[in-house]
Amino acid sequence: MDKPGKKAAYRAREAPAERVADPVPFPEDLQEENRLRPPTLDEFVGQPALKEQLRIFIEATKRRGEALDHVLLHGPPGLGKTTLATILAHELGVEITHTSGPVVERPGDLAGLLTNLAPRGILFVDEIHRLSPVVEEYLYPALEDFTLDILLDRGANARSLKINLERFTLVGATTRSGLLSAPLRARFGMTLRLDYYGASELAQIVTRSAGILKVEVEPEAAREIARRARGTPRIANRLLRRVRDVALIKADGAVTLPVTRDALRLLEVDERGLDDMDRRLLEALITKYHGGPVGLGTLAIVVGEEAGTLEDVYEPYLIQEGFIKRTSRGREATALAYTHLGFEPRRSMAAEAGASVVREKPARPPGDPRQPELPLR
Ligand code: ADP
Repeated sequence: MDKPGKKAAYRAREAPAERVADPVPFPEDLQEENRLRPPTLDEFVGQPALKEQLRIFIEATKRRGEALDHVLLHGPPGLGKTTLATILAHELGVEITHTSGPVVERPGDLAGLLTNLAPRGILFVDEIHRLSPVVEEYLYPALEDFTLDILLDRGANARSLKINLERFTLVGATTRSGLLSAPLRARFGMTLRLDYYGASELAQIVTRSAGILKVEVEPEAAREIARRARGTPRIANRLLRRVRDVALIKADGAVTLPVTRDALRLLEVDERGLDDMDRRLLEALITKYHGGPVGLGTLAIVVGEEAGTLEDVYEPYLIQEGFIKRTSRGREATALAYTHLGFEPRRSMAAEAGASVVREKPARPPGDPRQPELPLR
């Protein structure tokens, strides 16, 4: 019952060039991802607090024999929102229908989806913040009373038809919960936030995926991929697949640490998981704006990317890793961004960065910020 094109709408706002460190799925990912998706909560790696909450929630629902309360999952792309929705369906033994906010264009589309749901079924709406306001209005009574009021005809002939629906669960996923309207947010019984994964959790994911893909991966190689995967399982899995391909051509298929490092160098993913676009962004901040502050819109123009994509896709990781600060006056590069790209931090940053800033000259000429040889974390 899956609706195709779920993630296609997701990609519509993206840059044309593919970046290996993009947390948004590529078409090639979509084929592989279903294979790599853990089917049960036990196999879902990391996010212990969230899993604990869900376990209780699922068990209570099963005992009551009711439909699960509506669930909102939010967090950056590639962290497991779709996977969790699928797991919920699996654990509850119910059917799931996938769709996404921009795909449900008219109230009729929503009515079609809701009336086709099996009893206690799950409707998974990815990018739920992109539902149109009209569709949202129709959704409210469906969520609260499991009814739909459909307007038939217009003008003098207008009549409304009330449809009773089976009890169902809406699982909404969003990368931008701030954009969700307050009334919609209020209708979710449970809101769960997914956070970036730690390197050891990602290494577990890489090892698990390698088992499914039947690739031989040394533990150090799995850890290396994990450290450069921007805290994101989707990127970890993608890097694994790319490294596997290089290993096949260059090293009889065995994914060792040297092969992994070689492959990641080819892919231009550096020791901190930053790729060409991240480095361009940081370099623009440093060389064109003296490290900022600079507004998001300006930065977006300079690097040729949409402001929304910068905010959703690139920035969260750069902020979390301490390369960028978001201030009321705009974005600022931190001392770490300077040193990572081989620039001398500004004097005013010395105090902030502690004793680490002792060099008088750039470690490498500005303008050659690729692959700085930093000590490994
Ligand atoms: P999102 O919906 O948040 O964009 P997905 O659920 O589609 O992310 O996850 C992307 C890929 O990452 C999937 O192939 C899935 O197998 C993998 N993945 C995500 N989270 C986990 C996890 N906790 N454990 C194992 N694999 C995961």
